[in-house]
Amino acid sequence: MLYRLRNNFRLSIITMLGVCAIIGITPFAIFRFAQGDTVAGTVDTVIMLGIATSMVYAWITGDTRRSGFCIAVVACAGGATIAFLLGTIGLFWLYPPFITSFFLTSPRLAVIINLVTLLILMVFNIGFQSHEYMLSFVTTAIVVSSCAYIFALRNETQRLRLEQLALLDPLTGIKNRRAMEQELNAAVAFHQRSGLSYALVILDLDHFKRVNDDHGHAVGDEVLLDCAQIILKHTRKTDQLFRFGGEEFVVLLPGVGDYGMRTVMRNIHQILRRDLKSPGGPVTASYGVALLQDDDTRDTWFERADEALYQAKGNGRDQVVVAGESGSSV
Ligand code: GH3
Ligand code: MG
Ligand code: MG
Repeated sequence: MLYRLRNNFRLSIITMLGVCAIIGITPFAIFRFAQGDTVAGTVDTVIMLGIATSMVYAWITGDTRRSGFCIAVVACAGGATIAFLLGTIGLFWLYPPFITSFFLTSPRLAVIINLVTLLILMVFNIGFQSHEYMLSFVTTAIVVSSCAYIFALRNETQRLRLEQLALLDPLTGIKNRRAMEQELNAAVAFHQRSGLSYALVILDLDHFKRVNDDHGHAVGDEVLLDCAQIILKHTRKTDQLFRFGGEEFVVLLPGVGDYGMRTVMRNIHQILRRDLKSPGGPVTASYGVALLQDDDTRDTWFERADEALYQAKGNGRDQVVVAGESGSSV
């Protein structure tokens, strides 16, 4: 639970609001009912229940996008209704939703929700005692929303950038080992649910150290970049390529059975052998391939492909070995 709160910003905002709504609005609802103001009490209760239900929905389904949007709408609509019922003093309840909407939904949707709320208040003259009140409220609401908008936009950009830094390899721009681990976990889980077959390829460039030693590290980098480009160009959009380590790459092939796997591997092996070059001549690679089996975990699957790669290296390199078979097999 703590893990989810720490790693999911929107879920933490939704939870904070849900808890605040229950703790903060419930006493007001009770107070209004006690005063005999059933309408205001009911509105408070509906807002509180709306936010709390969306919070529970977000926790159960993980769909923070939809529940965040619902909470933003409920909170703004609730604030406007309170202003309608209580007059000017109710308008104060609109500042928290105006700010939090930017953290509950996308900045653009939040602007729309806030503007629509403001327009409804102005058109129906809700809670304003005079034009001066209206002008003051609208101006401050716009200033508050603008600040929240800028902050949310910056936050979103930085989050995306951090995500990229965490999951992409800086040299080749393809996904890195961390992303690979996530995708392999997802593949194993999806295979168990749906039975979709997957093949995993580990490829390691042959004698790559020599390329660096003979032509320099910068040339070595170019070869790695070319290798990634060539594989990307000759695999399907649904296949995924990762840079696992220095000169080791991993390809995840979904929806591929034994026959398909051998055809794809023959293709990649030949194309790379033909197109990947250093100033000293062609650069070859060795490949270990494993089909995902029903009793595989991510680790056992990867280990089987890795053992096949080891076998390919031991057999003299520049070949494909399928897990469980000893010789070059495609
Ligand atoms: P083998 O056929 O057994 O795989 O031999 P190898 O020389 O490819 O393997 P080894 O593991 O001995 O060397 C890997 C080399 O890859 C060593 C390292 O200098 C190089 N390398 C690792 N990462 C990078 C990188 O980011 N850029 C460059 N240019 N070279 C790298
Ligand atoms: Mg290696
Ligand atoms: Mg190597």
